[in-house]
Amino acid sequence: MPAKFFICPDNQQIPIESCLTACQSRQRCMFLPTLRAVAKSLHRGITEPTVTELIAGTRETFLKKTMGYAVNPQSVLYALHGSAVHTINENHTEGNMLTEIRLKDEITSGKFDLYGEILDQDSGVLGDIKVTSSYKLMKALGKYKVEIPTGEVYKTGLKKGQPKYKKEWRDDGCRNILDWAIQLNYYRILLQQQGMEVNKMVIQALCRDNSLRIASERGIDQAIYLIAIHPISDHWIQRYMQHKAAALQEALHTGKLPPVCKAKERWHDRKCQAYCQVAEYCPHGQRVKNHLALPLKEVG
Ligand code: SF4
Ligand code: SF4
Repeated sequence: MPAKFFICPDNQQIPIESCLTACQSRQRCMFLPTLRAVAKSLHRGITEPTVTELIAGTRETFLKKTMGYAVNPQSVLYALHGSAVHTINENHTEGNMLTEIRLKDEITSGKFDLYGEILDQDSGVLGDIKVTSSYKLMKALGKYKVEIPTGEVYKTGLKKGQPKYKKEWRDDGCRNILDWAIQLNYYRILLQQQGMEVNKMVIQALCRDNSLRIASERGIDQAIYLIAIHPISDHWIQRYMQHKAAALQEALHTGKLPPVCKAKERWHDRKCQAYCQVAEYCPHGQRVKNHLALPLKEVG
């Protein structure tokens, strides 16, 4: 079941249909076409679990599929940024390339963004477009800061005689992109099942806050980064997705709440605290929001 309600600025909830028909306030909180676009982005009309739904925590996907949850239109506008960038690309795919085709197998379905001659002469490049934050980019690029000695020492003060250091960025750290890598590798498998060769997988990540100081403090100084994704074994990916699909299927069949999402899936509780749209139906989400002590293990 997709989102059913919008949350108004005064925290009242209203069925999305009713909001689109008539605002319950004196003036709409944003333009009607924008609200329509937000509503459309929430109702994609796909029944089978998609690759991205399976990559998310099973509990989160289960709750999104079974609860008529509410969203604040302000907080889902990022989805529109993503679709706008996709549309810009989609309208310029003349030549040897394919775009936005949904492929299916017996486990799931996924829609790749771009495939073909999109980077060089290689016609087997699978491309994915992301609009993301400088924080996620810093993690995805494996950027971290190190302190290196300047060769000078403090001449006065408490640190007198101690060596001076300066901070420098390195980008050979651990790349935190497993979710992106699983997604692209699954699209690769779906394309290969159709007889298409995939020689390279690349993400074009657009930083949505790149003009802000916080981005440069995170070592992000470009608007767009190309991030190569390495192949993961088909066997591992298919087993992982099969496992996630089976867990979701079982929960939907029995109606039993799946175990709490894994720490990575719930961004170590940051998602539960502020970004999970179904947190109000999740006991763990409620505890995090209420700052109550978390039990060591929750079974459902
Ligand atoms: S336009 Fe905004 S304020 Fe008006 S009903 Fe819809 S969500 Fe609420
Ligand atoms: S609140 Fe956290 S644990 Fe609960 S469904 Fe959302 S992400 Fe998962």
